[in-house]
Amino acid sequence: MKALVLSEYKKLDLVDMPKPQPGDDDLLIRVQACGICGSDVHGYDGSTGRRLPPIVMGHEAAGIVEAVGGAVEDFRPGEHVTFDSTVFCGRCFYCRRGQVNLCDHREVIGASTPEFRRMGAFAEYVAVPARIAYSLPDDMPFAHAALVEAVSVAVHAMALTPVALDDTVIVVGAGMIGLLTLQAALLAGAGRVYAIDLDDSRLELARNLGATGTFNSSKCDPVAEIRTLTSGRGADAALERVGIAPSVNLTIEAVRKGGMVTLVGNVAPRVEIGLQSVVTRQIPLQGSCASSGEYPACISLISRGAIRVEPLLSAVAPLDEGAAWFRRLYAREPALLKVVLQP
Ligand SMILES: [Zn+2]
Ligand SMILES: [Zn+2]
Repeated sequence: MKALVLSEYKKLDLVDMPKPQPGDDDLLIRVQACGICGSDVHGYDGSTGRRLPPIVMGHEAAGIVEAVGGAVEDFRPGEHVTFDSTVFCGRCFYCRRGQVNLCDHREVIGASTPEFRRMGAFAEYVAVPARIAYSLPDDMPFAHAALVEAVSVAVHAMALTPVALDDTVIVVGAGMIGLLTLQAALLAGAGRVYAIDLDDSRLELARNLGATGTFNSSKCDPVAEIRTLTSGRGADAALERVGIAPSVNLTIEAVRKGGMVTLVGNVAPRVEIGLQSVVTRQIPLQGSCASSGEYPACISLISRGAIRVEPLLSAVAPLDEGAAWFRRLYAREPALLKVVLQP
């Protein structure tokens, strides 16, 4: 089969390799679409240490079941499926509590570390455990289904963030996940959702997707703007999608006393925060990682158009062009959001 292999850092080669052999509990999936995730682009140059070459990346995928392992009962060849990026063990303390995203033995499809290597979906076929797969409506385009994973990250973060009807919510960072989060916040009952970013084209997209207002933090002081809009108090809740010190601190300052801050972005492994502001204003800070159990809801939200993914698709291109798209994403070409590759 054809596969796009990261042979060494910043070098992707389209190679011919053997089809994966599904184990007893696995599905062999003929990949129809696989999105390039920000974590793939960051892993591409070795900076995250989670894409040790050689590795076939790609964990945001959808396809058709080609074959099922001997112990698989719930899926049949021909079924359309997507899968979670997290491979959980199902046996540890966290898995047994239903927190599979926190599994002690968590592995990720299309990632490799010193502990594990899982070949991903930038290939004609991928094998994944059936327990992480979900069937799709037959009429859902595969390129849309490839975004279920990203939607699940946004929906999980919203599920952790208490929002009362008519609350004011801010989303800091209007990239892929931010634009999905703002839609999830509106669905969760927020009365007003404001998006903050440095890129005007993303902010325009945010308004098209329902943002009440947007602020470009290079052109104004978003904290002052949000306070003006909330009788001086600040937003009821905030979600941070960038993960660097200025945006984390902006988020903390833009919520009201007691307003929850949910952190998803983690570009910088360490950031300095205004501790006194957090303590004296009693701000709950919480992290949100991947998702646990939100896939069926996300598939439904996309298929009934409650969460719109089409406007976030920048390009759907053949797998052969994958290396060129990685270079463009790595060069941070403006206005590029999700690129989906099709083997
Ligand atoms: Zn991802
Ligand atoms: Zn586990």
